[in-house]
Amino acid sequence: MLTYQDVLNDIYQKIEPILNEGKVADYIPALAQVNPEQFAMSITLFDGSSYHVGCSDEKFSIQSISKVFTFTKALSIYSTDLYKRVGKEPSGNPFNSLVQLEYESGIPRNPFINAGAIVVTDTLINNYKTLDATYSEVSNFIKEISDNKNIDFDENVCSSEIKHGHRNLALANLMKSFNNLDNNVDDVVKTYFKHCSITMSTKELSRAMLFLANHGTDPITNKKFITSSQTKRINSVMLTCGHYDASGDFAYHVGLPGKSGVGGGIVAVVPNVMSIAVFSPRLNSWGNSLAGTKALEIFTTKTNLSIF
Ligand code: GLN
Repeated sequence: MLTYQDVLNDIYQKIEPILNEGKVADYIPALAQVNPEQFAMSITLFDGSSYHVGCSDEKFSIQSISKVFTFTKALSIYSTDLYKRVGKEPSGNPFNSLVQLEYESGIPRNPFINAGAIVVTDTLINNYKTLDATYSEVSNFIKEISDNKNIDFDENVCSSEIKHGHRNLALANLMKSFNNLDNNVDDVVKTYFKHCSITMSTKELSRAMLFLANHGTDPITNKKFITSSQTKRINSVMLTCGHYDASGDFAYHVGLPGKSGVGGGIVAVVPNVMSIAVFSPRLNSWGNSLAGTKALEIFTTKTNLSIF
């Protein structure tokens, strides 16, 4: 019988020939400096056992994966009131698109596109009052769910994002003009960038996502973070919106709720079974890890662990 380790080893072998396909995200210059042909994949099970292949201890920029954590925090604070500020429908547009935001009066389609995560950050600043407290609460939450105090952000990536953040500033300014941003535009965007520049390995990320596979409770420590109903909502928004305008493609090929980041990471959840993280920096044309998506597809094909 094949073990999970056999499956991961086999995936690595199948993925190796395509590790030179796709492009790293160079619109954030600091991200373009990573070694582009890295690959890692980790899974964590409910009994605490975990399996890994590739550079699973290598920390990378989690980028939009942070949107899962900020959305989770905001949903647990504001419940359905959050949807007055941000929707929960797929956008069918790139993650940093401005057009839809204009004709939908500054209400972003969902919390996983940039505009949505910027609004979510604004709601968190309202709740925690200061920028430092907002960052600390988000990073403390990540430390709690991953049962690991060793989580930090990358100053270099953060300042590179700030220097080249024209489009995110445009999104934030547009929302401000529609009265959908309460705080100072620069402050909100900088805090959003800080969340995006948090670094984690696949080992850490797969551990962090486990509560979302278990109705909001960490099956290892038994700590309850959110309700079962909130978990259902977060996983459904990941399934329908987690990969921007490629969310349908990801659901079709992988069949799991998942969230990608332009740093090359993807997290995914197998409800009631496990959580998964992959990393490979080269991206497909939608801005999602090319080899990472393929690895997840092979995983669900081999194990029959898609939700469908
Ligand atoms: N920080 C990135 C940006 O704002 C996040 C985008 C992503 O990971 N898709 O552009």
